[in-house]
Amino acid sequence: MRDRPLFSRPVPSRRPCLTAVLRMAGLRPTRQRVALAELLFGGAHRHVSAEELHAEAEGAQVNVSLATIYNTLHQFQEAGLLREVAIDASRSYFDTDTSDHHHFYLEDEQRVIDIPANAISISGLPEAPRGMEITHVDVIVRVKRRQG
Ligand SMILES: [Zn+2]
Repeated sequence: MRDRPLFSRPVPSRRPCLTAVLRMAGLRPTRQRVALAELLFGGAHRHVSAEELHAEAEGAQVNVSLATIYNTLHQFQEAGLLREVAIDASRSYFDTDTSDHHHFYLEDEQRVIDIPANAISISGLPEAPRGMEITHVDVIVRVKRRQG
């Protein structure tokens, strides 16, 4: 493993920072991971599907298969860098904001937007099964454009 000092010279990109973030998350900063991290975390907080990220990677001349994108997204998720928002069995978005919050799913646009955690109050939850505790509750409110 190469261990270069991170800030030994001025670098005009976020790469050193992302490399450090990946290392701290326990992931080896391979070229592909760093490139995908740059696409994911280079801008504002967002929700992205594997297919969308794949298209962005192609646009940025990052040559990765969709399978690699899926693997990397799940590795980032397991490392706590992303949070998965599963809409249904075949549709998931990956959220760069891992804090507790909820989501609207805009069915017409197939898009996810945030609902702040404190905008929903949850009561009447059942007891967790024996020997278990509730870790968190994710709410997805599905909406579509009103007809007429
Ligand atoms: Zn979100």
